[in-house]
Order: sequence, then C-alpha cells, then structure tokens
Amino acid sequence: EEPVCECNTCYAGPDCSEFLPGCAADADSGDPLFLEPFWMQHAASSALVVAGWHRMSYGFSDSTTMSKELERHIRKLHYVVGNAVTKGRYIVFGAGSTQLLNAAVRVLSPDNSSSPARVVASVPYYPVVNFKFEGDASLWKNTSDPNVNLIEFVTSPNNPDGQMNKAVLNGAPNSKAIYDRAYYWPHYSAIPTPADEELMIFTISKVTGHAGSRFGWAIIKDKAVYERMIEYTGLNTMGVSRDAQLRALKLLKVVLEGGGREMFKFGYETMRDRWEKLRETLSISKRFSLQKIEPQHCNFFQKAREPSPAYAWLKCEREEDRDCSAVLKAANITGREGQMFSAEDRYIPWSRFRVRKGHNKWKIMAHFAVYVQSVKE
Ligand code: PMP
Repeated sequence: EEPVCECNTCYAGPDCSEFLPGCAADADSGDPLFLEPFWMQHAASSALVVAGWHRMSYGFSDSTTMSKELERHIRKLHYVVGNAVTKGRYIVFGAGSTQLLNAAVRVLSPDNSSSPARVVASVPYYPVVNFKFEGDASLWKNTSDPNVNLIEFVTSPNNPDGQMNKAVLNGAPNSKAIYDRAYYWPHYSAIPTPADEELMIFTISKVTGHAGSRFGWAIIKDKAVYERMIEYTGLNTMGVSRDAQLRALKLLKVVLEGGGREMFKFGYETMRDRWEKLRETLSISKRFSLQKIEPQHCNFFQKAREPSPAYAWLKCEREEDRDCSAVLKAANITGREGQMFSAEDRYIPWSRFRVRKGHNKWKIMAHFAVYVQSVKE
C-alpha cells in the first residue's frame, strides 16, 4: 500500500503537494523532512514491530546487547562516512543532541559554582542550549583572568551559515570547546577529514531525518568527561529511551546497507538542487545575496562536490531593507529574524527542509520568484 504523508496545516492532498491558499510559506523550520521520500522507498526494511511485553525494563540489566549493537553501528557509520574518529573514544547516548549539549556545558563547568563557566560562540550561532550566551567568542580571546572559565560552542558546519567553524579560543587557558557536529554529513557538507575533537556531538535528527525520535550521541576522548556525561544523562532522564535506541539501530542498519551511498546520495542531490534553485531565483535581483560556499573535495563521494548547505543565510542588500524579515513578509514568506542568531536583522536564515514528496514546485521558491520578478532590480 502507498504510504500517505502526514501533512502540516498548509499542505493537503495524498502526497502533501497542494499548498493551501492564504498560507505564508514558512522558511523557518529545521525539520529534516527532505529525507522522507528515501524512507518511503525503504518502508518495509525500516519498519519496526515491538510486542507489548517487549523491553519494558529500564534497561539497567540488559543495557549490554542492544545498546552495544547500536554503538557498534554508530562507530561503523562514522568509519564508512569518514566524518569522525571513534577509535579509542567513548560514546554517550542522549535524548537528541539537545540533551547532550546541555549535559556537556554542565560537565565542563568547574565544580565550584561560585564561578560558573561563561558560554560563548561565534556570531551567527544557533541558540540550542538553555544557557545565557556571553556574546561573540572572539571578544574573549585575550582574557587573561584565571577566574574566567569559558565554554565555546562550535557548530561545524554552522547553523545558519554553513561555514566550517573552528574554535577561536583554542589553546586559551580555562577554555573548553564543545563541537556540535549535527550537520557534518554528506547531505550538507563535503567531508574533507574525520573530525577529531575532544568532545563532538551528533544527532540522528540530521543524519536519517528522524528528529522526533530524540536520539543523539557524544564522542568523547576523556574518560572522566565520559563518566560525568553518563552520570548526567542517568540523573536527568534515567538513560535514553530504549524504544528510540531500537529505532535508531533499525534505521542505521538500513543506511549501512551498501555503505550508506544510497541515502547520502539522495540527501546530497536533494539539498544541492534546492540550493541551486534558490541561487538561480535570487540571481536576477541585486537585492538579495546568499552565503558563499566553495565547492570542496569530499572523501566520502571521492570527488569535488557542489554546495548543499542545510540553511541559507540570506542577506537583504539595500540600505532601506534593514529589516529583512519584513521584506520577506511582503513576499508572503515567514522566516526567522537574524537577531535570533545574534546577527543584524538584515540576515535571515532560510531553512530548506520544507518541501515534501511530490511537490512539482517548491512553493517557497515560487513565492520568492514572483516577488523577485515584481521588484526586478
Ligand atoms: N544543533 C544544531 C546546530 C541544530 O540545528 C539542531 C536542530 N535544529 C540541534 C542541535 C538539535 O538537534 P536534536 O534534534 O538532536 O536535539
């Protein structure tokens, strides 16, 4: 039987290809539904049936078999893709990478709570954790105060601008980096070398697209940090949902068939085509510009690849268009304000995950194309 899409409120029809009139096109969401067609094609092999009596326990006693098997598959996936070193490293599971990012801040903060660590990141950054950000990381480069402890978030490739960020406080005393590697997969980025940082965080949300499962993992060099991360997730949520682990395992098995080529090829081509279309649409106007991403050699595909970033970081160029989201509203497109990423309002991140299977037209692009045509400059 043909699977049926679960449409959101602005779409209708058996494949969610009808865009309902009066709806603004939403450029905001980061839901990775672009992989839905891949999973529809693998509906049977990725299906999971769990009997009611199965895996009822918290899983303390049998945490060995299934979780170990999942960990083995995660290591294999990184090896096959070549995007992270896992040999001799510890792996901790979390309820999405969100839990692990929060855990990492706690764990890397000094025990002495009278001087809690300050959390910094390079602008523009995606505010994923529940901590007060202390501003642009580069402002803290020359801090010599030994009582100032810094935790630097490095999202690489970055949300929203897709740049391959590196820690700017690297080597500064009392600073530690947390690498958010959510987008370091062949869908979104070239894979030039395996990442090998002290603490790296990945999520199934951006690999297979199963954001709703809430499953992520951290790859950690230091044993003491690993143990404290385990302790944190143990106390915070009594471990990670066994159902989510079981599903992640099933999905990774399907991905790894044929060395992951099929899913990553589909993901890359989909994202690349959307980027190309957006670039083409905007190229007839001088009013807008996009971030520049150079083509780069990818070790996974073993060739140079075109850009296919997860988001567009759109800039309104005219002086009078300082409020870029207001400009887009005129085109009936809603997006997120640049301010949310601690950047100027004239930048607006553009999420490109919205398009569903069966769309013969990308509706956001259609709105935009009409608008760009109408202003014609
Ligand atoms: N990090 C980044 C950079 C993200 O963009 C997102 C989701 N938009 C997350 C983490 C959260 O992912 P998860 O679903 O694993 O909690």
